Amino acid sequence: MLRATLLHLSESKRLSGWVTTAGAMRRMARRFVAGESLDDAIAAARSCNEAGMAVSMDYLGENAATTADAQRARDAYLEVFDRIAGEKLSANVSCKLTQLGLDLSFEFCERLVESIAERAAGYENFLRVDMEGSAYTQRTIELVKRVRMSTPAIGTVIQSYLFRSEYDVPDLLAYGCRIRLCKGAYKEPPEIAFPSKANVDRNYIKLMQTLLASGIHHGIATHDPRMIAATIRFAAELHIAKDQFEFQMLYGIRTDLQRQLIRDGYRLRIYIPFGKDWFPYFMRRLAERPANLAFFARNLFRS
Ligand SMILES: Cc1cc2nc3c(=O)[nH]c(=O)nc-3n(C[C@H](O)[C@H](O)[C@H](O)COP(=O)(O)OP(=O)(O)OC[C@H]3O[C@@H](n4cnc5c(N)ncnc54)[C@H](O)[C@@H]3O)c2cc1C
Repeated sequence: MLRATLLHLSESKRLSGWVTTAGAMRRMARRFVAGESLDDAIAAARSCNEAGMAVSMDYLGENAATTADAQRARDAYLEVFDRIAGEKLSANVSCKLTQLGLDLSFEFCERLVESIAERAAGYENFLRVDMEGSAYTQRTIELVKRVRMSTPAIGTVIQSYLFRSEYDVPDLLAYGCRIRLCKGAYKEPPEIAFPSKANVDRNYIKLMQTLLASGIHHGIATHDPRMIAATIRFAAELHIAKDQFEFQMLYGIRTDLQRQLIRDGYRLRIYIPFGKDWFPYFMRRLAERPANLAFFARNLFRS
């Protein structure tokens, strides 16, 4: 119930406008968001790299309202790739298609994504297209497959809470796509998504096994110790080397587990979001763990 309310509020533009200008809220969002500028994200990326972790940098933004907004987001992503190369960071980039105009036109969005993927390819780098709510799943997969036909520098994300994911995985693998597997962060109806956590987790393990057995380098994105243990066990059974896949986690979440995986010799990539449009991202992080809400409420009253 609380999760559904937080996810519903995450879509409110009015609340976003109020929250993102409140100083106390901006300070609290820093637990999950590296900062509002690219320099903040670069600094966070460098310190992750120094701790042995790769990163994926996400310039926050969703549902661009005009083509000019989408083009500005594209330009921001081109700059991120240039800075990564200039600063010699171990980093790739994550983006969202609605930030790049998917609500406005599929073809327009595809052209922007192509230009970012070409920049990534020029640096032998990689663009990950995040997966948004289910209204966008089919179009995201179609667009990524189309761009993947011209460059290997693009991949996407699969959510284990969706029933359709068991068909989307082999479809994307047939295109040689690198996939990030996650549980899924949006509010989805029971007609299309597993309502129970046990089933989401069971499907996660099934999909993880398909991915690891595929011989392609994928990202296993989770903070769940049981999903991580299942991945480690399966990789050991199949003699899959530690550098043939990577774990992925979000900036500011389970840093203890992050350090443990590095100590144990696994590859780990930290997803680093930055930018002024952090409200929906922040609300999804609260929804994942409503205990965070009590933590933030306490801090709000203290500040
Ligand atoms: C690198 C990365 C990229 C992602 N990209 C996408 C995407 O493109 N599309 C999408 O829909 N979702 C994405 N997600 C979010 C994902 O779908 C889940 O919502 C999120 O990761 C929580 O699921 P979990 O696997 O950690 O398991 P859970 O069972 O939700 O959590 C396991 C444990 O992790 C810790 N934890 C999890 N979330 C939080 C939190 N917010 N605050 C504090 N502790 C927490 C808690 O200790 C919890 O008990 C991404 C996640 C990661 C790690």
